[in-house]
Amino acid sequence: MKGLRIGVVGAGIAGLTTAIALAKHGHEVILFESTPVWGDVGAGITLAPNAMRGLDHIGVGHRVTSQGIEPLSQDISHWQSGDLILSVDRRGTSIKYGANYVYIHRADLHEILRDEAKASKVILKLDHHLVNISCSDTEVSVDFKSGQSDHLDLLIGADGLKSEVRKLFAPAAPHFTGHIAYRALAPVTPEIQALLDQPGMHIGPGKMVVRYPLRHGSLLNLVFFARQTGWAEDGWAIEADIKELKVLFDDWCDDVQCLLRAIVPGTVYKWAINAHKPLATWNYKNRVTLIGDAAHAMTPFLGQGAATGIEDAIMLARAIDDSKTLKEAIDRYQEARFERTSFVQAESNANADRLQGEETELYGFDNLRNEETLGLFAYDCVSEPV
Ligand code: FAD
Repeated sequence: MKGLRIGVVGAGIAGLTTAIALAKHGHEVILFESTPVWGDVGAGITLAPNAMRGLDHIGVGHRVTSQGIEPLSQDISHWQSGDLILSVDRRGTSIKYGANYVYIHRADLHEILRDEAKASKVILKLDHHLVNISCSDTEVSVDFKSGQSDHLDLLIGADGLKSEVRKLFAPAAPHFTGHIAYRALAPVTPEIQALLDQPGMHIGPGKMVVRYPLRHGSLLNLVFFARQTGWAEDGWAIEADIKELKVLFDDWCDDVQCLLRAIVPGTVYKWAINAHKPLATWNYKNRVTLIGDAAHAMTPFLGQGAATGIEDAIMLARAIDDSKTLKEAIDRYQEARFERTSFVQAESNANADRLQGEETELYGFDNLRNEETLGLFAYDCVSEPV
């Protein structure tokens, strides 16, 4: 199957990576994105070695590493005493796994991927909000809110948590997981310099605080997680009042108080953490499939949402390259990916319970289960059978 006309819906991390990988395999790739202009795309993201291996494969790994930060270690500390519970050594990651572990600003990652998409001759169509899909034996037709339409050999839904494409597979909307995240980017002050230099997290019953540096140490990425019984707000990401956050964490240790003081009021955003249940199939009429959050949105407690989307992208491009029909390609892709992504989804939920358990001081004492010990870093989307 050479020279297919392939539509990818959604220019997030998964969609951009897929479009680049497919274009490099010689297909005509059209990337449809609802956003009219490229905007601000959030705060920081961790790219584990399994994600970086995919980014290396499409030729952007070096740029991502040079614009990102590679931590030497990550500390896990007690919520109340501030005492160190565990330090995770990240030195030698690239030697051990053949790929780096990188923190990067999402906007920088998006820019790198967009540049590579353009260089790979991906046709980028902004202001294209998909509203309708119909399939025949010979093609898939897509309609956009603007009234425009297109005809493709294959359609890939990379349109995230609220995916329109996913509705072909299951009508159910994503569910609220009971977790909320408050996110902020703090400017560096002398008071937080030491916490910036040593990334890590504070964990406690039902809550946790994650911190790491971005942009050569000029910004501190902060995420405060808490549990909540429901989400009554209008929208999934809203500006939050810093006072609300201070109340939630008022009995946490001095380091956490120091982080809270570093946040500039008006720069905190509150996110409902939503997820999907695994689907029965990723193959719709042998012409449509899903990747990334559209296929398997998960909680962020293993830092693997974007990573699994990048893995999907490379594996799907390889399956298409190596198959004689679209049916074979989609079925092989699903067969290769479903079990892993379902496992990561389930383990992300379990990791929230491990990190936010009642006996904080015992975290990792016996049988440490995290993204590395679970073996997630070793997955190689470039050579894994598909
Ligand atoms: P999205 O990024 O949601 O992109 C979907 C795109 O589709 C968007 O551009 C959207 O505008 C477009 N779109 C939507 N509908 C339509 C339509 N109808 N027509 C056209 N376009 C459309 N993952 C990690 O790997 N590491 C981390 O450290 C990490 N930290 C996280 C922290 C938090 C607090 C959260 C909430 C998540 C975190 N994740 C992390 C998960 C990660 O952010 C997501 O899994 C990832 O961004 C999903 O990428 P995507 O491309 O699948 O979807």
